[in-house]
Amino acid sequence: MQSEFEAVIGLEVHCQLSTRSKIFCACPARMTEGQSVADITPNLNTCPVCTGQPGALPVLNKKVVEYAVLAGLATHCEIQMHSVFSRKNYFYPDLPKGYQISQYDLPVCGKGWLEIPGGSAPKRIGITRIHLEEDAGKNVHEVGYSAVNLNRAGVPLIEIVSEPEMFSAEEAGAYLRTLHSLVVTLGICDGNMQEGNFRCDANVSVRKRGATALGTRAEIKNVNSFRFIEKAIEYEIQRQIQVVVSGGQVVQETRGYDSDKNVTLSQRSKEEAHDYRYFPDPDLLPLRLTPEWVEKLRGALPELPDQKRARYSEQYKLSSQDAGTLSNSKSLSDFFERTIALFPAGDLSAPAKAIVNFLTGELTRLSSEASVELAQSKVTPRHLADLVQVSLSGVISSSGAKQVLISVWNSGAPVDSVIEKEGLKQVSDVGALEPIVQKIIDSNPSQAAELKAGKEKLMSFFVGQAMKASGGKANPALVSQIVKKLLA
Ligand code: ADP
Ligand code: MG
Ligand code: ZN
Repeated sequence: MQSEFEAVIGLEVHCQLSTRSKIFCACPARMTEGQSVADITPNLNTCPVCTGQPGALPVLNKKVVEYAVLAGLATHCEIQMHSVFSRKNYFYPDLPKGYQISQYDLPVCGKGWLEIPGGSAPKRIGITRIHLEEDAGKNVHEVGYSAVNLNRAGVPLIEIVSEPEMFSAEEAGAYLRTLHSLVVTLGICDGNMQEGNFRCDANVSVRKRGATALGTRAEIKNVNSFRFIEKAIEYEIQRQIQVVVSGGQVVQETRGYDSDKNVTLSQRSKEEAHDYRYFPDPDLLPLRLTPEWVEKLRGALPELPDQKRARYSEQYKLSSQDAGTLSNSKSLSDFFERTIALFPAGDLSAPAKAIVNFLTGELTRLSSEASVELAQSKVTPRHLADLVQVSLSGVISSSGAKQVLISVWNSGAPVDSVIEKEGLKQVSDVGALEPIVQKIIDSNPSQAAELKAGKEKLMSFFVGQAMKASGGKANPALVSQIVKKLLA
């Protein structure tokens, strides 16, 4: 049933820009590192401009424009030398002016694209536009009354609108993770989804596979984690398929997501652009950029995740998947870089692969179980480099390596002392292993004969026996060499 239909997804992402002051006034847009505007005494960070007092005039913050242009450059957008601020009119208590200053038909960035990691090759997702706007305040609902907190009013936002070019919840998730790591790498957004620094609305529709026209979409608002967005989209796709299959029609509407029940729920019917009575804001001049200024910003761009991904594939021969996972996480790629730097120059593909395996496997598991960021843990790049070294040279087995990592995670002790203390050193001494292997061959003559006759599968039997006999400490690669030699 499902294969008859195809889902189409387009995403609108709002990023709060991490400038010191708000977009149109000098009020703080954030207090200190890690503290959100929401934490501060209600209405402390406000002034006549961001509370919409009559006669107060907005003045554009230049840093905000710089950040928006950086986002546009990093997503290959056409940077518009001429753009315009418009008023988006609607009534809501958290919006004291009665309109939001946004950009409408002339946004600061036009078409661009973002590459996301895909199964065999990266996939390019089109970006429709990036525009600047101000955030609204926040309504706070108490028992018997509601209050309005305007600390957030006027915090700068960029809205990044994608083309409807994603076809599964998984692709939408990959796009969001890629975009998130991009804005965090650029240093223009704190990227804390719980705090609402990085918010996503997902537009979802379904159509018969092979159809070219888009189906009617529903828009899922304000889901605050990658995992929940993927689950919400997944649910919504199935819901719409059910509606169509049972002869109904999907209605265009805004839906919310209930993560406890894992369902999306209708909130309101969709408003159209003309409902907002957009018009250019007469209080603000058109925004004019110069090519020189834009080029200066381009020159200051840091290495971006997609460039990083390409470099990792090229320099360390990492698979597209591994390179994508690393480059999509600033914490993983930072740790990777610091670890690989501890190896002498040369062919680093083997240590690189081993580092990635530890980072994305055991270390990610330990870090999420303990809810401790890798960078804040007791494990250092030095530990990981040492662990990779002893693993690759066969000093410890792969299960031994896991054990070492857990000990290091808990204690921060050096790798060699953990190996010593826990007796994890593999026996890699031919003299010690040969008699053990000989004994196994002698007591299993028929298996030995079959292996000698070419039944290669039996090698694992002998390796297994040797591991058992040595209490798990035999170096398996060496055991198989010895078996071959003794049978020859
Ligand atoms: P708004 O939601 O503010 O009315 P747009 O009409 O520009 O703005 O659409 C916003 C987003 O919805 C874009 O990301 C676009 O890709 C996506 N979108 C538009 N139509 C569809 C559709 N039929 N199915 C899925 N996504 C869609
Ligand atoms: Mg929308
Ligand atoms: Zn203000």
